[in-house]
Amino acid sequence: MDCVFCEIIAGKKDCFKIYEDENVLAFLDINPVVEGHTLVMPKRHVERLEDLSDEEAVFVLRAIKRVVKLLLKKLQADGYNVVVNAGRIAGQEILHLHFHVFPRKSGDGGLFTPKEIDLERVYRKIMD
Ligand code: 5GP
Ligand code: ZN
Repeated sequence: MDCVFCEIIAGKKDCFKIYEDENVLAFLDINPVVEGHTLVMPKRHVERLEDLSDEEAVFVLRAIKRVVKLLLKKLQADGYNVVVNAGRIAGQEILHLHFHVFPRKSGDGGLFTPKEIDLERVYRKIMD
C-alpha cells in the first residue's frame, strides 16, 4: 500500500481519530497549523473531489458538517476554514482526497505558521 491515508483507514497506522462512519474517516493532522486541524476523507481512495460520485460527495460533506460542529463546540472556536488542495499545483502532497478543517479563534496565529501543538491534549479536549 503506498498511500499513507489508506494505511490509516486500514488501521495499519495510528491516528487521533475524531469521526468515523462507513464511508468517511476524520483524524487530527499530524502537523497542525491551528488547534484542532483535522483531515476529513472518504475511505475509498480517490485523488480529487471530482473523482467522487455524487452520493459519496454527500457522505463526505455530511461528515464535514459533523466534524465542524464537534470542533466548534469542544474547542470553543468562533469559525473555521475548510480547504481542499487538489493537484500538485495547489499544494496537494497526499494523493488521497482530504478536506482540511481549521477551527479558528482570535489570536490563533493564522494558517501559515506551523505551531507546536500537543495532539493528544487536543484529542482529549475534543473527545471528552
Ligand atoms: P495536503 O498538502 O496533501 O493537502 O496535506 C496533507 C496533510 O496531511 C498535511 O497537512 C500533513 O501534515 C498531513 N499528514 C501527512 N502524513 C500524515 C500522517 O501520517 N498522519 C496524519 N495524521 N497526518 C498526515
Ligand atoms: Zn489512499
